[in-house]
Amino acid sequence: MLRQDALYLGGEWIPSAAPGRIEVVNPADGSVVGAVPAGAASDVDAAVAAARAAFPAWSHTDPTTRLDYLDRIHAGITERAEEIAALISREMGSPLWFSRATQVGSSLAVLASMRSSFEAIPLEEEIGSAVVVREPLGVVGCITPWNYPLFQITLKIGPALAAGCTVVVKPSELAPLSAFVLAEIVDAAGLPPGVVNLVSGTGAPVGEALAGHPGIDMVSFTGSTRTGSRIAALASQTIKRVALELGGKSPFLILDDADLTKAVPHGLGKCFGNSGQTCVALTRMLVPRARLGEVEEQIAERIAEFPIGDPLAEGTRLGPLVSQEQRAKVIKYIQSGVADGARLLAGGADVPPELGQGAYVAPTVFTDVKPDMRIAREEIFGPVLCVIPFEDDEDAIRIANDTTYGLSAAVWSSDPARADRVARELRAGSVFVNNAQMDLLAPFGGYRQSGIGREMGRYGIEEFFELKTLRSRAA
Ligand code: NAD
Repeated sequence: MLRQDALYLGGEWIPSAAPGRIEVVNPADGSVVGAVPAGAASDVDAAVAAARAAFPAWSHTDPTTRLDYLDRIHAGITERAEEIAALISREMGSPLWFSRATQVGSSLAVLASMRSSFEAIPLEEEIGSAVVVREPLGVVGCITPWNYPLFQITLKIGPALAAGCTVVVKPSELAPLSAFVLAEIVDAAGLPPGVVNLVSGTGAPVGEALAGHPGIDMVSFTGSTRTGSRIAALASQTIKRVALELGGKSPFLILDDADLTKAVPHGLGKCFGNSGQTCVALTRMLVPRARLGEVEEQIAERIAEFPIGDPLAEGTRLGPLVSQEQRAKVIKYIQSGVADGARLLAGGADVPPELGQGAYVAPTVFTDVKPDMRIAREEIFGPVLCVIPFEDDEDAIRIANDTTYGLSAAVWSSDPARADRVARELRAGSVFVNNAQMDLLAPFGGYRQSGIGREMGRYGIEEFFELKTLRSRAA
């Protein structure tokens, strides 16, 4: 039976100071999956105190030993992989196959990548006449979203612990259950008390207390740009370091020499994965105006490959959105697209009645979208694709970069040199050419309002160090 009635503080399960519980609701049918403590600011005080107490010993622990602990966490997740995958599918709606492969699989891959990433970092290096030493930063507050609930936590605690920091984790209140499994795994792995602490709760009061806490040295946040801005403001009061992984409105540039039978299905998959609730989702498909008709034909042919349905059922490609609130928000965007004159090619606000009361939205494609429409500018965080025509490569680059975001982008072309030239002009933290995949050893993060700092690989670990310059001279 999963422990979810108490917080994990200083290596023990302790009841929250707040009496309330937050129910976790299955968005497929409205059933209650679990309930976690609502959390209070004083719980954050206790968690920070435990993390501070654990920091001196942990930061002096040999890195190899710290990496061994991460291996034990990896083994613990592997052992409970099926349970965690099913839990995530029930709490936030991703299809079970996707939960296994991506939600759990990517979490394991992140932890597995830590040793080689860590080994690539020079902990000491000579620069001029000085020695530059990388030291663990301190206590890190980790605030995470619901769309990849376990993965986002491992992306923070993996590198933070490897670097020698201690952490307080606040998972999303919408999908907190895998964090509770993780706390059990951490406990079973024998990590010293206080190295990892878990406080559940909502943004206010728990997230705010963490972001503003004087005992926290850094806040590592993943979530919306709006919340990121608030967190940075709270953190600024005590000059904390902040790492922000925020939203996106990522473009997919299909150049005029592309094989559309390959590019279009790739684009649909990268937009509709996790029902569009992915920060790097390629939500703007930029296509040559002369080939718009062909692209539309391809989309009409391939859209049936994205059936929506029960996340636990075999064959489901898109589960429900995380909540009814999220569904209502996405439906409003679909209505705004129609009102603004975009042409609806697939999907829309109606959902097949057999799906009942679940938070479902059909994969929706608008075409002939103008770059200044709301659906083309704002992050929708649902399965909504905007097809935007362009005139030539320069026009495509201009439209792609005309955004406040800059998280990711992709280019498809049969000419590698041309694709490379276009990719280098795009203002985004990750640019994919043809069907390239994410590499966990390479840095990931956003330009502009998509964030500050990088996660993954050695650059992700380096966020959790202070740099000390030692200047010595013989007396
Ligand atoms: P959110 O900003 O609503 O919430 C994220 C976390 O912040 C939650 O734990 C929430 O409780 C907490 N929070 C909310 N208000 C807070 C406050 N005032 N102070 C402190 N904490 C607060 O985001 P979400 O809806 O959970 O996630 C969706 C967003 O996350 C999307 O915008 C998406 O693009 C983004 N995201 C980004 C990445 C990335 O790596 N760049 C990855 C996944 C999701």
